[in-house]
Formats: sequence, structure tokens, C-alpha cells
Amino acid sequence: MSAADQVIIKSVEAYAVALPLTKPIRMAHAVFETVENVIVRIESEDGFVGWGEAASAPSLTGETWQGMVALIQGFIAPLLIGRDARLRSKLMDRIGANVFGATGSVSAVEIALIDLLGHRFNVPFSMLIGGMCRDHVEPMWILGNGSVDADIADARHRHDQGYRFFKLKGGTQSIDREIEATMRLREALGQDVRLCIDANSGYTLAQARKYIAGTQSAHVEFIEQPFPRNDLASLRSLAADGSIPICADQSVHDIADIHLQSQCGVSGVALKLNKLGGVTPSLRAASICQDNGMKIIVAAKVAESSIASSAIMHLASVVGLVDWGVSLTHAYLAADLVRMPLQVIEGKSFLRNAPGLGVEVDLDNLDRLRIR
Ligand SMILES: [Mg+2]
Repeated sequence: MSAADQVIIKSVEAYAVALPLTKPIRMAHAVFETVENVIVRIESEDGFVGWGEAASAPSLTGETWQGMVALIQGFIAPLLIGRDARLRSKLMDRIGANVFGATGSVSAVEIALIDLLGHRFNVPFSMLIGGMCRDHVEPMWILGNGSVDADIADARHRHDQGYRFFKLKGGTQSIDREIEATMRLREALGQDVRLCIDANSGYTLAQARKYIAGTQSAHVEFIEQPFPRNDLASLRSLAADGSIPICADQSVHDIADIHLQSQCGVSGVALKLNKLGGVTPSLRAASICQDNGMKIIVAAKVAESSIASSAIMHLASVVGLVDWGVSLTHAYLAADLVRMPLQVIEGKSFLRNAPGLGVEVDLDNLDRLRIR
């Protein structure tokens, strides 16, 4: 290979933005009104730019935005500057050999590297990470309004826009209220939509059993992360009941976690770039899930702009089966970071045939929302 073909990395910058949500999202243990996300900008010596993003999520990855910025700028950047971005796998191995965990930071860097290569070689992100199985996704909609009436109104509105898959955020109210919410949602939306519940570690075994028994006729497709990740006894007991498929989210951070969850009787896994540490480990996790006969959700963290949500969409387009849905989270934000945010039309979001992530970063918005 000639030196002229190289894509030498000139700079790696990271900074944080504060993004307001359109309305608060309630989950077990947390209410989100604003999110702090870290943006990565990598520029090559020949003037191409790649962008990456990861939500800061201390409860999921142990990282704060301050720590992410410091790690990327002070520690990861020197591992990359002056090197050839085409050797992405080698560069990611180099980062992995030097940084334990910090999966959000590492993911944002890998997204930016792939976006950079996409712009440099005029190829969409999905082509660089394996090739598409589908050219669009049908995202699910998250219901976390904190009241049954508000969830139903929200779901009806989104149903009119074509959404046919809804995820109720559990662990936020009493079990009786959550049973009522589920039953009324099913009644309001009819039988043609898919419903699931994400308890975000907020249930006890008794509560999970009560919820499942009380919502039998609502056909809830699966329950996500019913218990805290260390409560394997409850997990095994619920799985042994065989009353509902179980999905693992906070319990899965790497491949070993997937095997453990599978042994406990879990049927599916939520894959997130910021949780697994980027595209490469997420694709590896996806193929292991498929080998184990486990279902897959591909999800952005609540909430990531159209930068990270585009990366999620590209990832979802190359994963063989996304049986339990795709979650894009830019639509929960009051302000996006790109000029043309991802669009969901009649329930579908199509991949753009454009280089890299396929989005144009809105530098004015980025500047306005930057944390200084
Ligand atoms: Mg979840």
C-alpha cells in the first residue's frame, strides 16, 4: 500500500453537550430531563472528518461525561494520532489493550473512525461494518410518561405515525398501576401492535410474577431486565416459571455476560454500542446471541442524537435478526445535532445512501449545546 492511500489521523477531539428531552422519561431509579452526551471529532491529515457520540451513562457504563472527555482527549487520542485510520481493527485492539471498560468512550471513538473512513472512501457506514441485511428499520417507541393516561395518549399519537412496537418503562409505579397501564394500552392499541416491558432492574421476584400473572391477556412479548444484575436467583426462578421470555440489558456488558444470562434461562439481549464498547464487540455479541438462539434488540441509549442513533441504525441493518426490535432515541430530544435528523415515516426509517453515518452535523447546534 502506498503512503498516499493512508488516512493519517491528525486530531481527536472530545467534548460534551447537554441535550434537552422533549419531555421527561421516567424509568425505575431515574427520571431523565436532559442528557449529557460526549461527541468525538476525528480529522485526517487530508481534511476528512468523522463524528462519534455516546451518552454518558454512569449507571450503565460507570462513565461521566467529564471522565469520558478526559479519557478520550488525554489518553485515547495519543494512541491514534499519526496512525492510519484504515487499520481500524488494529487501532481498536490498541485501545482495548490500554483501556479497560470505558465502553461509552471507546464506542464514540470507533463510530468516529468508521464515519471518517466512510467519508474518505465515499462508502456508507453499514458497508464498512459488514453489509446490510435490510435497508430500513421499524423502530419501537418507549413509553415512560409516568401516568397511564399520558402513556396511552403518547402511544395513540405514535401509533398514528406508524409505530407498531411499544416498550413500557416499568418499575416506576405500583405493580397494580403497571398492570392497569399494560391492560389499557393493549385495549387502546388493539392486537396488531407489539408490547413489551422494561423494568430497568426495578422488580422483585414477587412483583415480576404479579405483573406477569396480571397481564396474561395483554400478550406482553417479553420482560426486559426485571431484576438487578446480581440477582441471579430471582432470574433463574422467573425463567423456570416459563411464563414470559426474559431479555437482559443492564446484565450484559460483554460476551461472558451473554453466556451467563443464557445459562440462567434468558431468551434475549439488548445490544447497545455504548454498553458493549462499539461496533466490533456489538457485532460479535450479536453473532454469539444468534449461535445461542437468543433474540436481539439493537438500541440507542436514551437519549442519543441522530449521530449515535444513525450508528445504531447501521448496526441494526447488518445484524441478521433483530427479532425484539430497534430503538432509536433521537426522537426524544428537543434538539438534534444534525441538519436532517433521522426520519421515521409510516413507522419506517430508511438508511441513507450517503458516506459514513449519512448525517451532516449541525455545527451551530453543537456549539450552542456544548457544555463549557
Ligand atoms: Mg433497557
